[in-house]
Amino acid sequence: MLDELKIDTSVVELSKKVEERLVDIFKAVDEVCEFNSLKVLNSFHKHQISEVHFNMTTGYGYGDIGRDTIEKVYADIFKTEDSLVRGQFISGSHALTVTLFALLRPNDTLLSITGKPYDTLDEVIGIVPNDSSLKSFGVNYEQIELVNDDFDYEKIEKRLKESFVKVIEIQRSKGYSTRKSLVIEAVEKVIKLIKEISPETIVMIDNCYCEFVDKTEPTEVGADIAVGSLIKNLGGGIAPNGAYVVGSEKLIKLVAERLTVPGEGKEVGPSMGMNKSLLQGLFMAPSVVASSLKTAIFASLMLEELGFKVEPKYNEKRADIVQNIIFNNPEKLIKYCQGIQAASPVDSNAIPEPWEMPGYTDKVIMAAGAFTQGSSIELSCDGPIRPPYIAYMQGGLTYQYGKLGVMKAISNIINQ
Ligand SMILES: *Cc1c(COP(=O)(O)O)cnc(C)c1O
Repeated sequence: MLDELKIDTSVVELSKKVEERLVDIFKAVDEVCEFNSLKVLNSFHKHQISEVHFNMTTGYGYGDIGRDTIEKVYADIFKTEDSLVRGQFISGSHALTVTLFALLRPNDTLLSITGKPYDTLDEVIGIVPNDSSLKSFGVNYEQIELVNDDFDYEKIEKRLKESFVKVIEIQRSKGYSTRKSLVIEAVEKVIKLIKEISPETIVMIDNCYCEFVDKTEPTEVGADIAVGSLIKNLGGGIAPNGAYVVGSEKLIKLVAERLTVPGEGKEVGPSMGMNKSLLQGLFMAPSVVASSLKTAIFASLMLEELGFKVEPKYNEKRADIVQNIIFNNPEKLIKYCQGIQAASPVDSNAIPEPWEMPGYTDKVIMAAGAFTQGSSIELSCDGPIRPPYIAYMQGGLTYQYGKLGVMKAISNIINQ
Protein backbone atom coordinates (compact mmCIF):
# COMPACT_ATOMS: atom_id res chain seq x y z
CA MET A 1 0.00 0.00 0.00
CA LEU A 2 2.94 2.34 0.66
CA ASP A 3 4.09 1.63 -2.93
CA GLU A 4 0.66 2.63 -4.15
CA LEU A 5 1.12 6.02 -2.47
CA LYS A 6 4.65 6.11 -4.00
CA ILE A 7 6.42 6.40 -0.68
CA ASP A 8 10.07 5.45 -1.00
CA THR A 9 11.25 2.46 1.08
CA SER A 10 14.24 4.46 2.33
CA VAL A 11 11.78 7.03 3.70
CA VAL A 12 9.82 4.30 5.49
CA GLU A 13 13.03 2.96 7.06
CA LEU A 14 14.04 6.41 8.22
CA SER A 15 10.57 7.09 9.64
CA LYS A 16 10.88 4.09 11.96
CA LYS A 17 14.16 5.32 13.41
CA VAL A 18 12.86 8.86 13.70
CA GLU A 19 9.70 7.82 15.53
CA GLU A 20 11.72 5.88 18.10
CA ARG A 21 13.54 9.08 18.99
CA LEU A 22 10.30 11.02 19.36
CA VAL A 23 8.56 8.91 22.01
CA ASP A 24 9.22 11.25 24.94
CA ILE A 25 8.52 14.40 22.95
CA PHE A 26 5.18 12.98 21.76
CA LYS A 27 4.34 12.13 25.37
CA ALA A 28 4.78 15.78 26.34
CA VAL A 29 2.46 16.80 23.48
CA ASP A 30 -0.16 14.35 24.77
CA GLU A 31 0.11 15.83 28.23
CA VAL A 32 -0.73 19.34 26.97
CA CYS A 33 -3.56 17.82 24.91
CA GLU A 34 -5.04 16.23 28.01
CA PHE A 35 -4.81 19.49 29.93
CA ASN A 36 -6.58 21.45 27.20
CA SER A 37 -9.19 18.72 26.74
CA LEU A 38 -10.04 19.09 30.40
CA LYS A 39 -10.35 22.84 29.93
CA VAL A 40 -12.87 22.35 27.10
CA LEU A 41 -14.84 19.60 28.81
CA ASN A 42 -15.22 21.52 32.06
CA SER A 43 -16.57 24.52 30.17
CA PHE A 44 -19.04 22.35 28.21
CA HIS A 45 -20.29 21.00 31.53
CA LYS A 46 -20.45 24.40 33.17
CA HIS A 47 -22.73 25.67 30.39
CA GLN A 48 -24.66 22.40 30.15
CA ILE A 49 -24.13 22.03 26.42
CA SER A 50 -27.07 20.10 24.99
CA GLU A 51 -28.87 19.59 21.70
CA VAL A 52 -30.68 22.90 22.06
CA HIS A 53 -27.35 24.63 21.44
CA PHE A 54 -27.09 23.00 18.02
CA ASN A 55 -30.18 24.88 16.84
CA MET A 56 -29.80 27.75 14.46
CA THR A 57 -31.19 31.15 13.75
CA THR A 58 -31.66 32.94 10.44
CA GLY A 59 -32.35 36.57 9.52
CA TYR A 60 -31.24 38.97 12.24
CA GLY A 61 -30.26 36.14 14.53
CA TYR A 62 -31.90 37.43 17.70
CA GLY A 63 -31.77 35.14 20.73
CA ASP A 64 -29.39 32.58 19.29
CA ILE A 65 -28.80 30.46 22.40
CA GLY A 66 -26.21 28.24 20.75
CA ARG A 67 -24.17 31.21 19.47
CA ASP A 68 -24.36 33.02 22.80
CA THR A 69 -23.30 29.90 24.72
CA ILE A 70 -20.39 29.22 22.36
CA GLU A 71 -19.19 32.73 23.16
CA LYS A 72 -19.36 31.95 26.89
CA VAL A 73 -17.34 28.78 26.33
CA TYR A 74 -14.66 30.69 24.39
CA ALA A 75 -14.50 33.26 27.17
CA ASP A 76 -13.88 30.39 29.64
CA ILE A 77 -11.12 28.88 27.52
CA PHE A 78 -9.30 32.22 27.32
CA LYS A 79 -10.27 33.35 30.84
CA THR A 80 -11.74 36.59 29.49
CA GLU A 81 -14.97 38.44 30.28
CA ASP A 82 -16.40 38.01 26.82
CA SER A 83 -15.86 36.78 23.27
CA LEU A 84 -17.17 37.08 19.74
CA VAL A 85 -17.19 33.83 17.74
CA ARG A 86 -18.84 34.28 14.39
CA GLY A 87 -19.18 32.84 10.92
CA GLN A 88 -19.72 36.42 9.77
CA PHE A 89 -15.97 36.78 10.17
CA ILE A 90 -14.67 35.39 6.88
CA SER A 91 -11.44 34.25 8.53
CA GLY A 92 -8.67 35.43 10.84
CA SER A 93 -7.61 38.31 8.59
CA HIS A 94 -11.14 39.69 8.66
CA ALA A 95 -11.37 39.43 12.45
CA LEU A 96 -8.00 41.18 12.81
CA THR A 97 -9.24 43.91 10.47
CA VAL A 98 -12.53 44.42 12.29
CA THR A 99 -10.71 44.47 15.64
CA LEU A 100 -8.19 47.09 14.50
CA PHE A 101 -10.92 49.29 13.05
CA ALA A 102 -12.93 48.84 16.24
CA LEU A 103 -10.13 49.87 18.59
CA LEU A 104 -8.47 52.69 16.65
CA ARG A 105 -9.70 56.24 15.91
CA PRO A 106 -8.21 59.01 13.72
CA ASN A 107 -4.84 60.24 15.11
CA ASP A 108 -4.45 57.13 17.27
CA THR A 109 -1.29 55.09 16.95
CA LEU A 110 -0.99 51.40 16.24
CA LEU A 111 2.39 49.92 17.13
CA SER A 112 3.52 46.48 16.07
CA ILE A 113 6.33 45.18 18.28
CA THR A 114 6.87 42.02 16.25
CA GLY A 115 8.05 43.69 13.05
CA LYS A 116 5.85 43.81 9.99
CA PRO A 117 2.52 42.08 10.61
CA TYR A 118 1.07 39.22 8.58
CA ASP A 119 0.96 39.88 4.82
CA THR A 120 -2.83 40.23 4.56
CA LEU A 121 -2.68 43.21 6.94
CA ASP A 122 -0.47 45.30 4.61
CA GLU A 123 -3.44 46.95 2.91
CA VAL A 124 -5.51 46.98 6.10
CA ILE A 125 -2.91 49.09 7.92
CA GLY A 126 -1.88 51.02 4.82
CA ILE A 127 1.71 49.73 4.62
CA VAL A 128 0.66 49.07 1.03
CA PRO A 129 -1.59 51.96 -0.03
CA ASN A 130 -5.32 51.28 -0.06
CA ASP A 131 -8.21 53.78 0.02
CA SER A 132 -9.91 51.76 2.78
CA SER A 133 -6.86 51.32 5.02
CA LEU A 134 -6.51 52.50 8.62
CA LYS A 135 -4.02 55.04 7.31
CA SER A 136 -6.65 56.52 5.01
CA PHE A 137 -8.72 57.19 8.14
CA GLY A 138 -5.80 58.95 9.81
CA VAL A 139 -4.54 56.13 12.02
CA ASN A 140 -0.76 56.23 12.50
CA TYR A 141 1.28 53.10 12.24
CA GLU A 142 4.72 52.31 13.67
CA GLN A 143 6.68 49.12 14.10
CA ILE A 144 9.58 47.89 16.19
CA GLU A 145 11.57 44.94 14.87
CA LEU A 146 12.39 41.89 16.93
CA VAL A 147 16.05 41.42 17.87
CA ASN A 148 17.43 37.87 17.90
CA ASP A 149 13.85 36.59 17.80
CA ASP A 150 12.94 38.40 21.00
CA PHE A 151 11.28 41.74 21.76
CA ASP A 152 13.37 44.90 21.66
CA TYR A 153 12.55 45.83 25.25
CA GLU A 154 14.67 49.00 25.21
CA LYS A 155 13.05 50.44 22.10
CA ILE A 156 9.57 49.52 23.31
CA GLU A 157 10.17 51.22 26.65
CA LYS A 158 11.59 54.34 25.00
CA ARG A 159 8.68 54.60 22.55
CA LEU A 160 6.01 54.16 25.22
CA LYS A 161 7.55 56.94 27.29
CA GLU A 162 7.47 59.34 24.30
CA SER A 163 3.73 59.55 23.67
CA PHE A 164 0.57 57.50 24.08
CA VAL A 165 0.18 54.39 21.96
CA LYS A 166 -3.43 53.24 21.69
CA VAL A 167 -2.89 49.67 20.49
CA ILE A 168 0.13 47.39 20.50
CA GLU A 169 -0.08 44.39 18.24
CA ILE A 170 1.86 41.23 19.00
CA GLN A 171 1.84 38.55 16.33
CA ARG A 172 2.91 35.28 17.92
CA SER A 173 3.23 33.06 14.88
CA LYS A 174 5.96 33.93 12.39
CA GLY A 175 3.69 34.36 9.35
CA TYR A 176 5.78 34.28 6.17
CA SER A 177 8.89 35.61 7.91
CA THR A 178 12.13 33.89 8.88
CA ARG A 179 11.91 34.66 12.58
CA LYS A 180 10.87 32.26 15.32
CA SER A 181 7.34 32.22 16.72
CA LEU A 182 6.89 33.63 20.20
CA VAL A 183 6.32 31.35 23.17
CA ILE A 184 3.92 32.41 25.91
CA GLU A 185 6.72 33.24 28.38
CA ALA A 186 8.12 35.91 26.05
CA VAL A 187 4.65 37.39 25.52
CA GLU A 188 4.08 37.51 29.27
CA LYS A 189 7.37 39.30 29.89
CA VAL A 190 6.77 42.03 27.31
CA ILE A 191 3.15 42.63 28.39
CA LYS A 192 4.38 43.17 31.94
CA LEU A 193 6.75 45.85 30.70
CA ILE A 194 4.07 47.53 28.55
CA LYS A 195 1.55 47.62 31.39
CA GLU A 196 4.09 49.07 33.81
CA ILE A 197 4.79 52.03 31.55
CA SER A 198 1.45 52.47 29.83
CA PRO A 199 -1.41 50.62 31.50
CA GLU A 200 -4.01 52.19 29.16
CA THR A 201 -2.39 50.81 26.01
CA ILE A 202 -4.46 47.97 24.59
CA VAL A 203 -2.38 44.85 23.98
CA MET A 204 -3.81 42.93 21.06
CA ILE A 205 -2.57 39.46 20.12
CA ASP A 206 -2.67 37.85 16.71
CA ASN A 207 -3.00 34.34 18.14
CA CYS A 208 -3.33 32.47 14.82
CA TYR A 209 -1.81 28.95 14.92
CA CYS A 210 -0.92 29.19 18.62
CA GLU A 211 -4.09 28.10 20.42
CA PHE A 212 -3.77 24.94 22.54
CA VAL A 213 -0.08 24.48 21.65
CA ASP A 214 0.66 25.26 25.29
CA LYS A 215 -1.39 25.23 28.47
CA THR A 216 -1.67 29.01 28.77
CA GLU A 217 -3.27 31.50 26.39
CA PRO A 218 -2.05 35.13 26.09
CA THR A 219 -5.18 36.57 27.69
CA GLU A 220 -4.15 34.73 30.87
CA VAL A 221 -0.89 36.66 31.02
CA GLY A 222 -2.22 40.18 30.55
CA ALA A 223 -3.24 40.58 26.89
CA ASP A 224 -6.41 42.67 26.57
CA ILE A 225 -7.69 41.08 23.39
CA ALA A 226 -6.75 38.11 21.19
CA VAL A 227 -7.81 37.11 17.71
CA GLY A 228 -7.66 33.84 15.79
CA SER A 229 -9.02 31.95 12.81
CA LEU A 230 -11.48 29.06 12.94
CA ILE A 231 -10.04 27.44 9.84
CA LYS A 232 -6.97 26.97 12.01
CA ASN A 233 -6.49 25.48 15.51
CA LEU A 234 -9.76 26.07 17.36
CA GLY A 235 -12.01 25.09 14.46
CA GLY A 236 -10.63 21.58 14.93
CA GLY A 237 -11.01 20.96 11.19
CA ILE A 238 -14.77 20.96 11.57
CA ALA A 239 -15.72 24.65 11.64
CA PRO A 240 -16.59 25.62 8.05
CA ASN A 241 -15.26 29.20 8.41
CA GLY A 242 -15.17 32.03 10.93
CA ALA A 243 -12.94 33.53 13.56
CA TYR A 244 -12.95 34.47 17.22
CA VAL A 245 -12.06 37.52 19.26
CA VAL A 246 -11.73 37.25 23.05
CA GLY A 247 -11.22 39.99 25.61
CA SER A 248 -12.84 42.35 28.09
CA GLU A 249 -16.53 43.11 27.82
CA LYS A 250 -15.81 46.70 26.83
CA LEU A 251 -13.46 45.80 23.97
CA ILE A 252 -15.61 42.95 22.67
CA LYS A 253 -18.57 45.35 22.51
CA LEU A 254 -16.51 47.68 20.32
CA VAL A 255 -15.53 44.82 18.02
CA ALA A 256 -19.09 43.48 17.83
CA GLU A 257 -20.46 46.93 16.96
CA ARG A 258 -17.91 47.25 14.17
CA LEU A 259 -18.69 43.77 12.81
CA THR A 260 -22.45 44.29 12.96
CA VAL A 261 -24.20 47.57 13.77
CA PRO A 262 -23.55 50.21 16.44
CA GLY A 263 -26.39 49.72 18.90
CA GLU A 264 -26.92 46.07 17.92
CA GLY A 265 -23.50 44.51 18.48
CA LYS A 266 -23.55 40.93 19.72
CA GLU A 267 -27.37 40.72 19.72
CA VAL A 268 -27.49 40.09 15.97
CA GLY A 269 -25.76 37.66 13.64
CA PRO A 270 -27.54 34.47 12.64
CA SER A 271 -25.58 31.25 13.19
CA MET A 272 -27.27 29.68 10.14
CA GLY A 273 -26.55 26.11 11.13
CA MET A 274 -22.93 26.26 12.23
CA ASN A 275 -23.30 26.07 16.03
CA LYS A 276 -22.86 22.32 16.20
CA SER A 277 -19.76 22.46 13.99
CA LEU A 278 -18.20 25.17 16.15
CA LEU A 279 -18.82 23.21 19.34
CA GLN A 280 -17.67 19.93 17.87
CA GLY A 281 -14.62 21.62 16.34
CA LEU A 282 -13.63 23.14 19.67
CA PHE A 283 -14.17 19.75 21.32
CA MET A 284 -11.77 18.14 18.83
CA ALA A 285 -9.29 21.02 18.82
CA PRO A 286 -6.91 19.91 21.62
CA SER A 287 -6.41 16.56 19.91
CA VAL A 288 -6.20 18.01 16.39
CA VAL A 289 -3.61 20.54 17.55
CA ALA A 290 -1.65 17.67 19.16
CA SER A 291 -1.77 15.71 15.87
CA SER A 292 -0.57 18.79 13.99
CA LEU A 293 2.28 19.22 16.46
CA LYS A 294 3.34 15.59 16.11
CA THR A 295 3.22 15.89 12.32
CA ALA A 296 5.41 19.02 12.50
CA ILE A 297 7.88 17.40 14.92
CA PHE A 298 8.07 14.26 12.76
CA ALA A 299 8.73 16.35 9.64
CA SER A 300 11.35 18.40 11.47
CA LEU A 301 13.47 15.39 12.44
CA MET A 302 12.94 13.55 9.14
CA LEU A 303 14.11 16.52 7.08
CA GLU A 304 16.95 17.33 9.44
CA GLU A 305 18.18 13.74 9.08
CA LEU A 306 18.08 14.23 5.32
CA GLY A 307 20.32 17.29 5.61
CA PHE A 308 17.77 20.08 5.31
CA LYS A 309 17.68 23.14 7.51
CA VAL A 310 14.54 23.18 9.65
CA GLU A 311 12.95 25.58 12.14
CA PRO A 312 11.98 24.78 14.82
CA LYS A 313 14.12 21.73 15.50
CA TYR A 314 12.30 18.61 16.67
CA ASN A 315 13.24 19.11 20.32
CA GLU A 316 12.64 22.88 20.59
CA LYS A 317 9.77 24.33 22.59
CA ARG A 318 7.02 25.26 20.15
CA ALA A 319 4.78 28.30 20.12
CA ASP A 320 2.67 27.30 17.12
CA ILE A 321 1.90 24.40 14.78
CA VAL A 322 4.00 25.70 11.89
CA GLN A 323 7.08 23.83 10.68
CA ASN A 324 9.56 25.57 8.41
CA ILE A 325 11.78 23.74 5.99
CA ILE A 326 14.38 26.00 4.43
CA PHE A 327 14.99 24.57 0.98
CA ASN A 328 17.23 27.30 -0.53
CA ASN A 329 15.85 26.07 -3.83
CA PRO A 330 12.51 26.90 -5.50
CA GLU A 331 12.08 23.50 -7.23
CA LYS A 332 12.41 21.55 -3.98
CA LEU A 333 9.88 23.84 -2.28
CA ILE A 334 7.43 23.33 -5.13
CA LYS A 335 8.00 19.55 -5.22
CA TYR A 336 7.51 19.25 -1.48
CA CYS A 337 4.23 21.17 -1.61
CA GLN A 338 3.07 19.08 -4.55
CA GLY A 339 3.85 15.95 -2.50
CA ILE A 340 1.71 17.20 0.39
CA GLN A 341 -1.12 17.87 -2.06
CA ALA A 342 -0.77 14.40 -3.62
CA ALA A 343 -1.17 12.77 -0.19
CA SER A 344 -4.28 14.80 0.65
CA PRO A 345 -7.72 13.20 1.02
CA VAL A 346 -9.36 15.77 -1.30
CA ASP A 347 -8.06 17.09 -4.64
CA SER A 348 -5.08 14.72 -4.51
CA ASN A 349 -4.96 14.79 -8.30
CA ALA A 350 -4.48 18.56 -8.42
CA ILE A 351 -0.92 19.84 -8.88
CA PRO A 352 -0.46 23.19 -7.11
CA GLU A 353 1.57 25.90 -8.85
CA PRO A 354 2.78 29.28 -7.53
CA TRP A 355 0.22 32.08 -8.15
CA GLU A 356 -0.49 35.73 -7.33
CA MET A 357 -2.77 35.42 -4.31
CA PRO A 358 -4.89 38.39 -3.28
CA GLY A 359 -3.35 40.05 -0.20
CA TYR A 360 0.18 38.71 -0.78
CA THR A 361 3.12 40.46 -2.51
CA ASP A 362 5.14 37.51 -3.85
CA LYS A 363 3.82 34.52 -5.75
CA VAL A 364 2.73 31.85 -3.30
CA ILE A 365 2.41 28.10 -3.69
CA MET A 366 -0.30 26.53 -1.56
CA ALA A 367 -0.95 22.86 -1.07
CA ALA A 368 -4.17 22.08 0.75
CA GLY A 369 -6.30 19.15 -0.28
CA ALA A 370 -8.72 19.97 2.46
CA PHE A 371 -12.37 19.33 3.29
CA THR A 372 -12.70 23.05 4.01
CA GLN A 373 -11.29 25.40 1.41
CA GLY A 374 -8.07 27.05 2.59
CA SER A 375 -8.19 25.27 5.93
CA SER A 376 -4.69 25.11 7.35
CA ILE A 377 -5.47 23.02 10.41
CA GLU A 378 -5.76 20.27 7.81
CA LEU A 379 -2.32 19.21 6.55
CA SER A 380 -1.20 22.01 4.28
CA CYS A 381 2.02 23.50 3.07
CA ASP A 382 2.68 26.83 1.51
CA GLY A 383 5.41 29.29 0.85
CA PRO A 384 6.16 32.48 -1.01
CA ILE A 385 8.46 31.99 -3.99
CA ARG A 386 11.33 34.10 -2.68
CA PRO A 387 14.72 33.21 -1.17
CA PRO A 388 15.49 31.29 0.98
CA TYR A 389 12.48 29.31 -0.34
CA ILE A 390 10.90 28.27 2.92
CA ALA A 391 8.05 25.79 3.17
CA TYR A 392 5.54 26.63 5.89
CA MET A 393 3.89 23.35 6.73
CA GLN A 394 1.12 23.01 9.26
CA GLY A 395 -1.90 21.01 10.30
CA GLY A 396 -2.83 17.36 10.28
CA LEU A 397 -6.25 16.24 11.49
CA THR A 398 -4.67 12.99 12.63
CA TYR A 399 -1.00 12.23 13.12
CA GLN A 400 -1.24 9.12 10.93
CA TYR A 401 -2.44 11.10 7.89
CA GLY A 402 0.05 13.83 8.69
CA LYS A 403 2.91 11.35 8.79
CA LEU A 404 1.86 9.82 5.47
CA GLY A 405 1.73 13.29 3.94
CA VAL A 406 5.24 14.12 5.12
CA MET A 407 6.61 10.78 3.87
CA LYS A 408 4.98 11.32 0.48
CA ALA A 409 6.33 14.88 0.20
CA ILE A 410 9.84 13.72 1.10
CA SER A 411 9.64 10.91 -1.46
CA ASN A 412 8.64 13.52 -3.99
CA ILE A 413 11.80 15.55 -3.44
CA ILE A 414 14.27 12.69 -3.22
CA ASN A 415 12.94 11.12 -6.41
CA GLN A 416 13.14 14.40 -8.29
C1 LIG B 1 -3.22 32.67 9.02
C2 LIG B 1 -2.81 33.87 9.75
C3 LIG B 1 -3.58 35.03 9.68
C4 LIG B 1 -4.82 35.15 8.83
O1 LIG B 1 -5.79 34.20 9.11
P1 LIG B 1 -6.76 33.69 7.92
O2 LIG B 1 -7.75 32.86 8.61
O3 LIG B 1 -5.89 32.93 6.96
O4 LIG B 1 -7.32 34.92 7.30
C5 LIG B 1 -3.16 36.12 10.40
N1 LIG B 1 -2.05 36.08 11.15
C6 LIG B 1 -1.29 34.98 11.23
C7 LIG B 1 -0.05 34.98 12.08
C8 LIG B 1 -1.64 33.83 10.53
O5 LIG B 1 -0.90 32.74 10.61
